Amino acid sequence: MSGPGGIVAWKRVPSLRFLLPKGSVAGIKRLLASAEFIPRICIVGSGPAGFYTAQHLLKHHKQARVDIYEKLPVPFGLVRFGVAPDHPEVKNVINAFTQTAHSDRCTYSGNVTVGKDITIKELQKAYHAVVLLKPDLSSETAVVLGHGNVALDVARILLSPLEILRKTDITEDSLTVLARSKVKRVCLIGRRGPLQVAFTIKELREMINLPSARPFLNPADFKGLGDAIKDVPRPRKRLTELMAKTALEDPGEVVASRWASASREWSLKFLRSPLEVLPMADGKQARAIRMAVTRLEGTGDGTKAVPTGEVEEVMCGLILSSIGYKSVPIDPAVPFDPKQGIIPNNLGRVLGAPGLYCSGWVKRGPTGVIITTMNDSFDTAQSVLEDLQSGALDVSGAKEGFDLVRSVLQSRGIHPVSFSDWEKINAAEVARGKLSGKPREKITDPREMLELISH
Ligand code: NAP
Repeated sequence: MSGPGGIVAWKRVPSLRFLLPKGSVAGIKRLLASAEFIPRICIVGSGPAGFYTAQHLLKHHKQARVDIYEKLPVPFGLVRFGVAPDHPEVKNVINAFTQTAHSDRCTYSGNVTVGKDITIKELQKAYHAVVLLKPDLSSETAVVLGHGNVALDVARILLSPLEILRKTDITEDSLTVLARSKVKRVCLIGRRGPLQVAFTIKELREMINLPSARPFLNPADFKGLGDAIKDVPRPRKRLTELMAKTALEDPGEVVASRWASASREWSLKFLRSPLEVLPMADGKQARAIRMAVTRLEGTGDGTKAVPTGEVEEVMCGLILSSIGYKSVPIDPAVPFDPKQGIIPNNLGRVLGAPGLYCSGWVKRGPTGVIITTMNDSFDTAQSVLEDLQSGALDVSGAKEGFDLVRSVLQSRGIHPVSFSDWEKINAAEVARGKLSGKPREKITDPREMLELISH
């Protein structure tokens, strides 16, 4: 038997014969119809939501088989590419994901683009349930804008001393670029006010404590916030108080002297919404960004930034964007809400499409830290398990799972990357990293990855 055991499901059928009186054809038929086959579940995407969903399914269903498909040759999605290089503790989840991938009831296939190499309809033919996870990770603007954690990640990496970054898994190429960087000031621009920032306190604290940079927060933005802070939930209260303290209070002698000698600086600018990037005369580089000055309208979560009519320009030569993510439709067979960028669902069950489930940012929108994704993925996995138990998920017919998908891919000239192939890439990255005292030196070119495993 090759692959994750399509044959195991069939083996149970002949044994039924011995349970029935000879000649009872109708009885055999009835029993065959009700015989439960091993549930084959397929997960699209190998980021944290994919692996957490797989982990929960394998743990709580002792027969289910789970196959994970990934567009890139390498697994782990945002944990590999999106978690900042100086946050190695977040990357530790990779150990748990690796354990999941090693289960003999799980396969990983990289280098397979669902929607192009194989359709959702074909996956549904091969699996009892299909779980979708496909955020579009590309942002559309070309400016460093936004008051989320990604914005702080970007600012922190731009301002961090190279000797700190050298010990992380940041790529050599990025280090080379950063070594040449002339950036001394990073201004984080948000369209709303201090009470609406999307970053969290841990990440703000890291910025305030950056050894080589001093914060520049305008006291005027924080004076008079007192009453408004009183009514907000405790995490936001603490976050706002930390910003206000940094802006308004004397930091003490030690910190003040560190800040005085810092060669770099970062600041938060509020109530500015991007309008236009203004180019240099040669048209090749940015000169400034034009922004609409905004004011706040509404209260609580519904507080909106509306333009006042006033416009302002901030001079800058580098503009990066970090205004969040939006998922895109994966396949015409899957319902999609383009406004919210999510698949309409009830606890992960895709509405109007039995047997299809979703998890991660395509289920709830692009928010939350890794724990949020973990809980959310466990919820989706729980929905699959409940549907298996209640019979809502029909497993009365055998499905071939990966064996079928592999033959379809083969006929299309696609060569999936297995988890053991990934482990070869991983070993090569770790070996390369060792040479420069880093946890790994990431290979970024998919062609190089594929070449490495073809030997
Ligand atoms: P985010 O938290 O959604 O923040 C996006 C920021 O961009 C907000 O300040 C938002 O302002 C602003 N924005 C959105 N659309 C805009 C527009 N059209 N014009 C101007 N500003 C706009 O997104 P993110 O920073 O990409 O993070 C995504 C998720 O990953 C978050 O849940 C985050 O916490 C998580 N994450 C966590 C970590 C960590 O744990 N260290 C690191 C990175 C990311 P409004 O509020 O006004 O919309």
